[in-house]
Amino acid sequence: MLGVLLNLLVAWGLGLLTHTTDAADQRMIQLYNPSSTTVHTRFYLAVHQWFGVHERQFYLTRRSRARPEPKRISVFWTWLPADPAPDVIEEGNRLFEAFNPEHLDNTVISTTRVGFPALALSCDTLVDDLAPLPDGTYSTMAKGGFFDRVEAAQFAGKPAIWSHTQRLWFPYRPIWSGFLINTAFYTLVVCALAWLWRQIKHARRMRRGLCPFCKYQLSYDFTTGCPECGWRRQQPAKAP
Ligand SMILES: [Zn+2]
Repeated sequence: MLGVLLNLLVAWGLGLLTHTTDAADQRMIQLYNPSSTTVHTRFYLAVHQWFGVHERQFYLTRRSRARPEPKRISVFWTWLPADPAPDVIEEGNRLFEAFNPEHLDNTVISTTRVGFPALALSCDTLVDDLAPLPDGTYSTMAKGGFFDRVEAAQFAGKPAIWSHTQRLWFPYRPIWSGFLINTAFYTLVVCALAWLWRQIKHARRMRRGLCPFCKYQLSYDFTTGCPECGWRRQQPAKAP
C-alpha cells in the first residue's frame, strides 16, 4: 500500500519538476516508413526527456526549429528503463486515430510517461494551434491526465515544438508493467528502511543494557535472555 503511494508521489513529483526546468535532452527527427500499413507513414517526432519523464510529440508537418538539439548536462538526467512503444510510426497513428484531430496540419499530439525507476503513468495530450479560441487559448485535449490552458499569445508566431509535459498535471493512466515494478521497488525500500530502523533501535537499547524487545533492564546480561518477554529464552515445554 505504501509502495503504491510512493510510486504515485514520485511519478507526480518528477512530472511537476518539468514545470520548472527545461528538458535535459531534446531531439527532433523525421520518421518515414513507406512500407507501414497504417494511415500515416511519415511523422515528425520531438522527444523531450527529463529524469524519469519521457515525452514524445507527433506532428505531420514540419515546424520551425525541427532540428536536433544538443543534450544538455543536467541533474535531471534521462531515465528510460521501460519503453512500452518501440514502433514510433504505429504509436503516432494510434494517437492520431484516438484523438481524430480536426486540423491535421496544425495539431501536435504528445504522449508523456513518468515514473522512477520504471515509467509507470502516462497521459496523451493534443494542442491544435490553428487559431485561438474566443477566450485566447488554443484548443487542447487530454486523455489520462490534466492539461493547463494554453495561452495563444504566448506561442503566437512561433510554432516551435515546446513541451506539452510542462503543462501537464498528475497523469493517472497506469503503465501496468512499470507500475508493478515501481510498487515492488518502493515496497522493498520501505521494508529495508523499517528493518534498518529496528536494528538501530535494538542496538541502542542493548548499549543501555536493556532488553532490545521490551526495554526490560537486563544490566548487560544478555546471555541468559529476558525474563520479561522471553527473548533468547527457551520456550517452556508445554506440559502434556
Ligand atoms: Zn524483554
